[in-house]
Amino acid sequence: MDSVAELGTTPLSFDQSRRRMAEASRYLAGGVSSNFRLGISPTPLVFERADGAYLIDADGNRLIDYYLGMGPMILGHTPQDVIAAVQDQLGRGILYAGQSAVETEAARLVCEIVPCAERVRFNSSGSEAVQAALRLARAATGRRTIVKFDGHYHGWFDNILWSTAPPPGANAPVAGSKGQLAEAGADVVALPWNDLAALRDRLARGGVAAVIMEAAMCNAGAIQPLPGYLEGVRAACTEAGTILIFDEVITGFRVGPGGAQERFGVTPDLATFAKAIANGFPVAAVAGRAELMELCTQGVVHGGTYNGGSVGMAACVATLSRLRQPGAFTGMEARGTRLMDGIREAFARAGVPAVVTGFPTIFHVAIGLEAPARNWSDLLRMDRARYVRFTTALLERGVRALERGAWFMSTEHDDAVVDRTLEAVNGAVRVI
Ligand code: PMP
Repeated sequence: MDSVAELGTTPLSFDQSRRRMAEASRYLAGGVSSNFRLGISPTPLVFERADGAYLIDADGNRLIDYYLGMGPMILGHTPQDVIAAVQDQLGRGILYAGQSAVETEAARLVCEIVPCAERVRFNSSGSEAVQAALRLARAATGRRTIVKFDGHYHGWFDNILWSTAPPPGANAPVAGSKGQLAEAGADVVALPWNDLAALRDRLARGGVAAVIMEAAMCNAGAIQPLPGYLEGVRAACTEAGTILIFDEVITGFRVGPGGAQERFGVTPDLATFAKAIANGFPVAAVAGRAELMELCTQGVVHGGTYNGGSVGMAACVATLSRLRQPGAFTGMEARGTRLMDGIREAFARAGVPAVVTGFPTIFHVAIGLEAPARNWSDLLRMDRARYVRFTTALLERGVRALERGAWFMSTEHDDAVVDRTLEAVNGAVRVI
């Protein structure tokens, strides 16, 4: 039996996590395997197991989880259908370095569900899928320049980790990491998002192989495209002969089965997916127009030992089979909407200025804004320190939400979970 701490009265303690992080740091650099798990208040947590909407940490705290693995766990932490499919596949072998029926089935599902997907290739991470898309775009156009947008994140590789969090007034792409080659940014242009005139101007100057964007900006904020923006981008790219890439690593299979492109009715040439595509298994995909994707058979190299590995493919098939069912998103969206409204009301009652924006299945809470952000520079006005005080107070009350303001929903976040979350939110808002 776990000694499960109950939500409510005394703040939860995280001493065991602290102790185990100290031990882990003797072997893992910084105690973690991704920088995005560092520096979390009051301490990065160490987990024992997960169950539905909950994580159970080393102190025995049963935490309602809105990280959801940073987005993948859309069916919650222990979906029986996905687990059964994976267990069944494990009995047939792990990695074939060859084709399998389950890989074809996963590809068929992606092509049937995603509007732009005439062909697909699988990878193991979103960062890799983005690399494939950029390479395809450059091969197709014979051009070098990639246009991206301030605050958008497309993985951690040298050629695209630019201006993910630029300081105010930056007028050239800003490197995201020490050790990153300056030359790797020479062909990157970073523009403000939701600004069609800025994009049109740059496209008119020529040489742009691809425009890559999160079709709704979800790494920073959960910002919707302004009415007409995506349509305008689509038309401008077509006119300029530039490949339009939607990076749907977060939005794919999450803001609706067919992702942002289906929700907004704008079809890119290529799109990248990961996270919710296989509910936590390392599966990613690049998908798009057949003649672009078929460049993979005409000199464009796309590789990866683990690509299309049968265990991940089994998870992908089970996940997408569930998400494509009619009504699969209905309950999750209703409860997400209720949670967004409840958070909004809690801040309003406490007199703390905050906006809650985005989608019921991935939304964002920004303290200190008076109106929804339209782009990165608007988000710079958020009160980040106060928000971290808020998520720390939430954690002490048994709710784990990302410090950057994002909240991910799953099918397992039922009404009781939402009620308990709102209790914690109301308590946390009062102490910040
Ligand atoms: N693109 C987007 C939009 C993402 O959100 C992420 C990950 N947060 C990536 C790419 C990179 O994916 P991965 O971490 O799987 O490499």
